[in-house]
Amino acid sequence: MASVKSWLKFVVHSVLAGYAFLRIKSLLRPTLIILTYHRVLPTKDQHRDSEQPGMVVSPQLFQLHLRTMQRLGATFMHLDDWIALDQEGKPVPKLTVAVTFDDGWRDNYEHAYPILHQQKVPFTIFLVTNAIGQGQAFWPERVMQLVMNHGALTIDRPEFDWLRPHLTGLPLAERPLTREEADRVVSNLKQLDDQSIIAGLETTSLARTDPATDSPRRVILDLNELQEMHASGLAHYGGHTRHHFRLNRLNSTHALMDEIAGCQQDLQALKLQPAKTFCYPNGDISEYGEVLVRQHFHGACTTRSGCNASGCDPFTLKRYNLHDNNSGSARSFLATLGRGLL
Ligand SMILES: [Zn+2]
Repeated sequence: MASVKSWLKFVVHSVLAGYAFLRIKSLLRPTLIILTYHRVLPTKDQHRDSEQPGMVVSPQLFQLHLRTMQRLGATFMHLDDWIALDQEGKPVPKLTVAVTFDDGWRDNYEHAYPILHQQKVPFTIFLVTNAIGQGQAFWPERVMQLVMNHGALTIDRPEFDWLRPHLTGLPLAERPLTREEADRVVSNLKQLDDQSIIAGLETTSLARTDPATDSPRRVILDLNELQEMHASGLAHYGGHTRHHFRLNRLNSTHALMDEIAGCQQDLQALKLQPAKTFCYPNGDISEYGEVLVRQHFHGACTTRSGCNASGCDPFTLKRYNLHDNNSGSARSFLATLGRGLL
């Protein structure tokens, strides 16, 4: 049965990869493909163990993706440069690839930048400005660490009140959760707003005496790393809010202003290149949030998969989120591109 399944998967991937190849080779209009990454970690890196599936790519795979796009004849360009040319009605290459990273992880500097530098590939990192230089990861990673690294949690204690309703069917009282189970907790928690989850995590960590779940090293890029990458001319930075709050969950205009206009202000204070692009956390945005993004940036990325034809709305850009599980070979990478082109 397993072999029938893997054979079927092979056939589907081959068909989709062939379709992507043909579509890309016969483009009628100049097209932009945006490749999206989060974390770039070697296969043996311990940070992988408590990271959500769908967030990590190995440096080898990352390199393979770049090489595959090069072989397809792609021109690599900064995302904001493509938007500027296209908006001004100037010619853009037939096939452009913009490499982007979300959140500003330190491993982008450690494991992706050497490859990008060697191959002279421009890229954009969407920064969460309040997190720059911070040791602490975002709430999904903190939740993953909490429920995966703890022994049998004493979840009947009051500091777990906020978490308990989101553990239905999960055996956290008996054993640490697996990565997949922990990822279910993260999905369940998305019913809450980000501030409530962070407040819950604070309560839990204040009550704990075991420091084992605290991250031992800084995981977010700091100013020195941002400056070094910027000095190479390859790195551009964009906005990804101040706190990575989902923007459709914020109910005051003040909070939206703070996350969008405030993020732009913070980026200007870095004194690097003007930050022209934005990326909606979790792909979520409200009507007024989009108005603000249009006021403060020149373009924005969604989480919808697909390509962008010349003349498209630069504030609803599609892209491909790539990770080990959906692009582990050139064939499955192309199949992922093909799926978004259907
Ligand atoms: Zn993000």
